[in-house]
Amino acid sequence: MKAKEILKQMTPYKPGKQIDEVKKEYGLDKIVKLASNENPFGFSPQVKNQLPKLIEQLEKYPDGYSASLRTKVAEFLNVSEEHLIFGNGSDEIVQIICRTFLEPGANTVMATPTFPQYKHNALIEGAEVREVPLSEGHHNLEAMLEQVDENTRVLWLCTPNNPTGVHISEESVRGVLDKCPNHVLVVMDEAYYEYMETTDAFESISALKQYNNLMVLRTFSKAYGLAGLRVGYGVASKELIATLEPAREPFNTSTIGQAAALLALDDQNFIQETTKENSRNKNALMSFLDDLQVDYYPSEANFVLVHLPVSGDEMFDHLLSKGFIVRSGEALGLPNSIRLTIGKKEDMEIIQSEIKEKLMSVTR
Ligand SMILES: *Cc1c(COP(=O)(O)O)cnc(C)c1O
Repeated sequence: MKAKEILKQMTPYKPGKQIDEVKKEYGLDKIVKLASNENPFGFSPQVKNQLPKLIEQLEKYPDGYSASLRTKVAEFLNVSEEHLIFGNGSDEIVQIICRTFLEPGANTVMATPTFPQYKHNALIEGAEVREVPLSEGHHNLEAMLEQVDENTRVLWLCTPNNPTGVHISEESVRGVLDKCPNHVLVVMDEAYYEYMETTDAFESISALKQYNNLMVLRTFSKAYGLAGLRVGYGVASKELIATLEPAREPFNTSTIGQAAALLALDDQNFIQETTKENSRNKNALMSFLDDLQVDYYPSEANFVLVHLPVSGDEMFDHLLSKGFIVRSGEALGLPNSIRLTIGKKEDMEIIQSEIKEKLMSVTR
């Protein structure tokens, strides 16, 4: 059998440690996972209450057009329904974009490190991947634009960027959109949009009217807390959505996922509470790090990339033994750092004292 050659050089996604695995290994009762930027407060109680009602008619295929959810999201964003495409998480929208636009001979431009699925899917399609190193956690947009040529199909902007948490300012996004040639699709991945507090964020959805080569990705996995149900979406011009649709599987989002996302969108109260608490706990973490003179990237998301005087793996192991799962920077291309999801106040207080203990023991 002959598989695509590129697959031999690729590794499947390595999930973070599983909670049960760690409990057993370390004999701990409680494990706190702060590794995947999930919502520590769960998801909307409205969704939870309605869930039993959603478990019906599972013998039927889902609505392949996601009509009810589509109407709700269109209303919420103030766009018309033809501007939306839904996916099995925004991960799948990334895949659909790559299936649609990338092939051997084409190239795609992105930052590094950034969300790994852009590169992963581009490689599978046989495209050339042009990666431009971040500078101080920021996209180096000028250098990215220099990489664009007549064979460039897609340019990726992850804002706030995973794993650094740094956002791209309005002025900078505009600069890219104004300078980038029109044959290049500019994808803005806004997976952490709800968490952004900055006043210079780019109003991507309203800008879609102005730029027909722009596409915005959003998800129900992060602030909405529905990662397990896999619903994400893309917003773009009608023409662009129509171009992508044939590359989408007909029943790519589930009946329960669609219904839960609809209810979750209706509970903006939950989003407000979640983001307020995130902001509070993130600020507490940042001032804790300031006091310790530990460096980090200022984050507009629900995680912080912390720079350490020890290796990320070493801090990871220490925190794991104390019942915390974080993401080591080693695996993310940022050694001597960890990416820490902002958790509940009480858990943050404990992990902060564990970080401090470790740092004291190495500088002593
Ligand atoms: C988590 C994440 C996604 C994917 O989320 P889905 O669960 O697939 O919707 C996309 N982009 C970034 C930057 C992310 O961090």
